[in-house]
Amino acid sequence: MRLDSNDGNSGGFRPSRQVPVRELPVVARLKSVAEVTLGYEKADAMAEASRCLLCADEPACQVAGCPLGSPIADWMRLCGEGRVLEAALLARQANPLPDVCGRVCPVDRLCERACILGSAASEPVAIGEIERFLGDLLSDHAARNGHETPCRVHRRERVAVAGMGPAGLACAEALLLRGFAVTGFDRWPRMGGLLRYGIPPFKLPASILDRKEAELRNLGLEFSGGRHVGAEPTIWNLLEFGYSAVFIAMGAPPAETRTVAGAGLAGVQTATAFLGQANVPRTDRPPELQQPDEELGQDVIVIGGSDAAMNCARTALRLGARRVICVYEGAESHMQAAACEVRLAREEGVEMVFEAVPLRFHEAGGRVLSVELKRIDTAGGTATFRLPADTVVLAMSHDDARGTPAREKVSVYDPRFDLEVDLGSGRTSVAGVFACPDAASGSRTVVAAIAAGLRGARTVAAYLDGVAVG
Ligand SMILES: Cc1cc2nc3c(=O)[nH]c(=O)nc-3n(C[C@H](O)[C@H](O)[C@H](O)COP(=O)(O)OP(=O)(O)OC[C@H]3O[C@@H](n4cnc5c(N)ncnc54)[C@H](O)[C@@H]3O)c2cc1C
Ligand code: SF4
Repeated sequence: MRLDSNDGNSGGFRPSRQVPVRELPVVARLKSVAEVTLGYEKADAMAEASRCLLCADEPACQVAGCPLGSPIADWMRLCGEGRVLEAALLARQANPLPDVCGRVCPVDRLCERACILGSAASEPVAIGEIERFLGDLLSDHAARNGHETPCRVHRRERVAVAGMGPAGLACAEALLLRGFAVTGFDRWPRMGGLLRYGIPPFKLPASILDRKEAELRNLGLEFSGGRHVGAEPTIWNLLEFGYSAVFIAMGAPPAETRTVAGAGLAGVQTATAFLGQANVPRTDRPPELQQPDEELGQDVIVIGGSDAAMNCARTALRLGARRVICVYEGAESHMQAAACEVRLAREEGVEMVFEAVPLRFHEAGGRVLSVELKRIDTAGGTATFRLPADTVVLAMSHDDARGTPAREKVSVYDPRFDLEVDLGSGRTSVAGVFACPDAASGSRTVVAAIAAGLRGARTVAAYLDGVAVG
């Protein structure tokens, strides 16, 4: 990687701070689920893109930072020059969901961490915010000018994509663009996976997923919601129904949360159940989540240190909790949550307790009453303390649940198949059946899931084209 002093932005004054992003004031945030970060206007995006050094030859942000290898320096250049629509088209070629990634990518662990402008004295370029601006621009432009991509289905082969989270969406779109007929199946009535039911609307408005859904249907996608693949239909059924290939993108198996005494009490919930109930209208949920929503109460304890934990804590405040405390087993510097998520949570009133683990949940009448915690004391002490709790949300991530193995045998999908998955290529032991390469261990981020879905689409297309895949 080198700086190109001839045509880069390496000369002249460059502000060391990012162009600030507008945010809703805290009081307004807590009164609704409106999006908190309001994004850049064109002038902001141009000014911020102009901070980019336009590194030539393998810019670190795109090679080491972005799992999609998005040509960041190229679209930064165009954006800085005001050629924002061209920049947007380029960003979109690499990423089917730039508007989503610009909002949810933990950029301080990905592209912005790799940006060489980032140092003690200077902030990295706000790559995520610019990508979000470009993604929104393109969608608005298409909607205003009726420039939706027309259906290109011309192949006779049909592909079933099982699971329509970011991996399935990316795979389905890539196959549709290659001309295959694609049907997406999902247990939930709507597409989006964790984007729709795990990431709250104040971070990712549902309207962005609705417009992606419309875009894919326009491209020719058929969608069959409320279908539990493996039960009805089985993968065997899908092959019998005439699908030439099946791509499994059902997300990660649930993280194995540590056994805490009392975890089965009323009032103790998992992050996905809690967020699914809080964020998604009842009619858009699968039957098992259609029961009346649980009473939240005043005191909410969230256990975990990931983005999921921040999402839960901030959601609880919006649902009216009086006090929300996030308990994390490590030091603040070890949290997986993006720094900006932690800042927003604190601003909104979330309290943090570090280096503590839950020992047991105490109850009254079968409902959780308090959490007993042990302080992790490197000196060997065993101090315990209690926090009152009307609701406890278990938001330990896959990373927190250490020891969850990357299983090579995935047998949950169909009782008639014991699918061996090659985690590198995504091929399985059954011809024509492929699994998201991350199916066993789970994608840690949305952008990694998109990358896995795109890789899967290439493998499926090569199989259907009769091309050997390595
Ligand atoms: C609460 C929470 C918050 C998160 N926040 C962020 C964030 O801010 N940024 C970030 O980058 N990442 C975040 N993540 C991680 C991110 O959501 C995942 O990495 C990503 O969604 C994985 O995508 P996927 O398509 O592999 O799986 P999923 O998004 O889980 O999608 C899988 C889909 O398969 C469906 N499915 C499952 N089983 C079946 C079946 N048997 N039949 C039919 N359909 C089935 C599911 O209903 C779902 O729609 C978060 C995760 C959680 C849990
Ligand atoms: S997709 Fe995510 S990691 Fe890649 S450039 Fe965009 S914000 Fe950064």
